[in-house]
Formats: sequence, structure tokens, C-alpha cells
Amino acid sequence: MKTIHVSTGKPYDIYIERGILEQIGSYAKKLSRAQRVCVVSDTNVAPLYLERVRNALTQSGFEVTAHIFEAGEKQKHLGTIADIYNTLASFHMTRKDIIVALGGGVCGDMAGFAAASYLRGIDFIQIPTSLLAQVDSSVGGKTGVDLPQGKNLVGAFHQPIAVLIDPDTLSTLPQDFITDGMGEVIKYGCIKDRAFFEFLRQNDAMQHIEQVIETCVSIKRDVVSRDEKESGERMLLNFGHTLGHAIEKLSHFCGISHGMAVAVGMVLIAEAGEARGVTASGTAEQIVSLCRQYSLPTATDYSFRDLAQAAAGDKKTAGNSINLVLLHDIGSSFTQSVPLKDLEQYITTRGIYERKI
Ligand code: MG
Repeated sequence: MKTIHVSTGKPYDIYIERGILEQIGSYAKKLSRAQRVCVVSDTNVAPLYLERVRNALTQSGFEVTAHIFEAGEKQKHLGTIADIYNTLASFHMTRKDIIVALGGGVCGDMAGFAAASYLRGIDFIQIPTSLLAQVDSSVGGKTGVDLPQGKNLVGAFHQPIAVLIDPDTLSTLPQDFITDGMGEVIKYGCIKDRAFFEFLRQNDAMQHIEQVIETCVSIKRDVVSRDEKESGERMLLNFGHTLGHAIEKLSHFCGISHGMAVAVGMVLIAEAGEARGVTASGTAEQIVSLCRQYSLPTATDYSFRDLAQAAAGDKKTAGNSINLVLLHDIGSSFTQSVPLKDLEQYITTRGIYERKI
């Protein structure tokens, strides 16, 4: 088993081990004085794992209920949160009881936000079951929901008391979900770790998945520990996300997954960086080639004008400017503030790579 300690304001551990899902009872017992546990999951994941998680918790002496919501990013809104509160209150959950988030990123974000706000905050444990959640969204304490105006516009920073990562759950994931997670995996190589980028190039990530998860989680842990509330370095984790979110928004959050949109966003911003002379030439081409190796898209049909306008509504805007994450080179990233009025011009390039598909 690999253990990664996160020393945020409220420290906790991330455990990576095959089969750890069935040990949730003993971990919850060790970490909490709860009597009751509410497992929050969705209609895709619950049929696969809920009974095993429920049995493990029951055997450790907890009273267990479950809240299952319909799978999909479309459910990530305040109405679903109200439904979760209803389940928690009906089950007489008190402040010492806990929520277990069993599922992908959407589930973790919503279960975490319910935990952050119900009774002004109760504990929760993450059991991420998708690659994207295991390498990225389950770590760092960001929770929340979407509004019609954009993604993740309501939420809270709320750290879990533990994250249990079971790589065996990836074996039931459809290939598209693996591809989706690889977008974030490649991001970590781009922003912090050239050797890891090379590793992904020379190997099949899925053959070394425990090592891949450990590397991504360690990078995120390091960044989040230094900047829990995203005032500085944590912004680097948004590499590819400003334009990625714009693509998701323009496609109304369906048609392209988050990780795939991030892949396109990474390519576009690397091309922009090269065109502006701040990114080493050839960087975008390396990202394109690695994204293609993992079946990720590298281009979009949306115009630079549409992308700039959609990105202007992103929550990373600060007044009249936007913080873009750029690369000096693979493995080395920085942020640059660009006036919103100049954004379209900044990201507009000849788009040499998108024509090569
Ligand atoms: Mg992301």
C-alpha cells in the first residue's frame, strides 16, 4: 500500500491499494466517532460497489444509509444537494456522523459540498472510482456544484478525513473514462514533471497505473499543501482548464468530457505561448503527440473569439484580467495575467497543429 500524507490545515492521508474499498469499515472506525454513515453514489457506480461498501461499514458497527443520484455532470446542481440534505436529515445524521463519497468527480464534488454545509460541516471520506477522480478531483478539498451560468460556481473548500483509492475499480470503467482521466494525468507532467511526461510517452500508463496515480496525487499534494485556497501556485493545476472550460461551456457540458476538453485546452494554450514567445518552440507538438497516444482530442471547431468570450466568464478572472497558466517548457509552468480585452488576440494562433488530424 502507498500512503500519501497531505498537510493542509486539516491534515489527512491518501491510501492507494488494490481492494481497499472493502476496508472502508476499519478506516472509518479508526478515523471517526460516527454512528451513522451515508454513502453517496450514482446510478453507474452503486450497482457495482455499494453493497461491498455497505457490508464493510455494517460489519464495523455503523448504521448505514445510501443516497443514489442519477449519474452525469447534468445532475451536479443545487437540486441534487437538497435531495442529499433530505436523506441526511431523515436519517438523523449528527455532526459527528460521516458521508462517504463513492464515485467519480461529480459524486465527490457533491458529496463533499453536502458534507461541507450540512450542519455547518461534517466529515467525509472519498472513495474515488474514476481515473479522473483518483488522480485529481478527490485530492485538494474542492467541493461544489455547477450553476446554469458555469461550472463549479458554488462550493466550498472542505478537506476529507481520508481518501481511499482502489485501482481495481478502474477495470470496470469504460475506455472513454480512462481517456478522460488521462487528460489530467498528462497535465501533471506538463506543469511539474518532465520525467513523468517522458514516462507516459515511453510506457502504457494503464500498465503502471498505481505508480501513475501516486505521481499525480503527490504532485497535487505538494501544490495544495503550499497553497490550499488557490491564491498562487495552486492555479498551475488549472493548466489547460481556462480554454478547456470554455469548450465545455460552449458544448453545454455534453459532447466532450472534462479531461478531453482539458487536453484541447493544453494544446491551444501551449500554441499561444509559443506564438507569444514565452513557451519553448515544439512544446505544443509534444503535447499533441502524447494526447494522441492516449486517444485524446487536440483540436476544436470553436473559433478563438467564441473561446475567448466563454473563457471571460470563467471564475479565474480577476476583475478585468484573467490568469492564464502557461508553460516555459514541458515540466515548468507559470501564470500570466492577461487583460480580458486582449484575451482573444492572445490565444489566436495560426493553429498549425489542429489542421493535422
Ligand atoms: Mg480538472
